[in-house]
Amino acid sequence: MPAPLFPALADGSGREALRFGDHALTYADLAAVAGDLARELPPRRVAVWATPTVHTSVAVVAALLAGVPAVPLNPKIGERELAHILADSDPALVLAEPGAELPPGLAGLPRRDIPLTGEKTPIADEPDPEAPALIVYTSGTTGPPKGVVLPRRALATTLDALEDAWGWTADDVLVHALPLFHVHGLILGILGPLRRGGSVRHLGRFSPEGVAHELANGATMLFGVPTMYHRIAGEVGTNPALADALRAARLLVSGSAALPVHDHQRITAATGQQVVERYGMTETLMNTSVRADGERKPGTVGVPLRGVELRLVGEDGEVVDDPETVGEIQVRGPNLFTEYLNRPDATAAAFDDGWFRTGDMATRDADGYVKIVGRKATDLIKSGGYKIGAGEIENALLEHPGVAEAAVTGEPDDDLGERIVAWIVPSGEPPSAGELADHVAKLLAPHKRPRVVRYLDALPRNDMGKVMKRALGA
Ligand code: ATP
Ligand code: MG
Repeated sequence: MPAPLFPALADGSGREALRFGDHALTYADLAAVAGDLARELPPRRVAVWATPTVHTSVAVVAALLAGVPAVPLNPKIGERELAHILADSDPALVLAEPGAELPPGLAGLPRRDIPLTGEKTPIADEPDPEAPALIVYTSGTTGPPKGVVLPRRALATTLDALEDAWGWTADDVLVHALPLFHVHGLILGILGPLRRGGSVRHLGRFSPEGVAHELANGATMLFGVPTMYHRIAGEVGTNPALADALRAARLLVSGSAALPVHDHQRITAATGQQVVERYGMTETLMNTSVRADGERKPGTVGVPLRGVELRLVGEDGEVVDDPETVGEIQVRGPNLFTEYLNRPDATAAAFDDGWFRTGDMATRDADGYVKIVGRKATDLIKSGGYKIGAGEIENALLEHPGVAEAAVTGEPDDDLGERIVAWIVPSGEPPSAGELADHVAKLLAPHKRPRVVRYLDALPRNDMGKVMKRALGA
């Protein structure tokens, strides 16, 4: 008999499970309302209009109880992307918070309002572990979003591996300010605490003050993306209340994109805390993390999680084992997705003899810590016979006091093959191109200095704060 995903729901305790602004649900409340809704769902896929509200969590839990695959939708989604996702996933109806205004693109689907109260007995939570549980679309950083079919087995595996790595317990109270239509905010941020029997406080909108307030009032951990830690890093040195709150936290976790080393160092300097970085994808859920009880090495994403096999593969398909050499990260394990929805060719192309090709490039040190260099498609620059990762140049640029944000790309060059271009958001008076080139050459090596510097008011980012390098011509 398959095990339940949420053992704490069956206990139905009076402990608070979810709090989003004015709405709070205990485990008993959630068991009743999600149980009621689960009984009423059709036996086919449902879309969830994933506003950052307690309603979205109720809808997703109900679908999981019922064994009905849920497709979370970004409530700020554009018309074209919505049409693509609806045609691709073909849901029977859309579940939405009462009063939420839905776009015209959803007019053709029956709507059902998500309730917040229920009264019947909860239903058993034991559908087939291999059946599709969620269809989550990728962030669309490198191309149109792909529908990733995730079985319950992958959810349970990844959440239990994080329990092992982070010492995550029912006593943990998570501060959450992430969107609910991607893996980070939904699977780690909502389903994770519910599986552990812990609780979630969602801020609605991220602010360092909101985080400080929750951490000062009983919350124990924060899950954030690097843009959030960047804001925290900018304030923590001059905001003693924020520094005290972060110092008291049990665990600060960053993921979804690389955490700039400079931001990490500023947070550590002000609080003594080291941020735990973890690395995952929609397709694989979590692959690696720094362990809460292990050595923390800033700039790395830690070691493979329990159950995850990881290898680095070089350009000729050879497995790389020397710590200096970059290879593509490939992973294998029970944390992996089943397939890309309706895309058997893309699914087949994503695997190399059972290993999933992540498209991310990395090195691995003698202790097994993985250091991500960047994405194969956009972050590896071939210049003057060298292969250069964008990430280390970005980290070096961010150490310059005149640089607030930085992204590095390559563009065609007659002499070099590709030349290094730095896209800079200055923090005040813009530093000159020559000054930045000298700064990088001094920290790294002369061939890693940017040849061209372009100044922007803001970097193009998606809703997870990831830099859209395609928009920068990469
Ligand atoms: P798409 O696949 O549609 O282009 P995406 O790859 O950004 O979008 P996700 O599945 O949300 O969609 O993101 C996974 C990617 O995020 C990883 O492949 C990796 O490039 C990046 N990533 C996640 N965590 C980290 C991290 N800690 N450090 C560096 N990169 C990370
Ligand atoms: Mg991807």
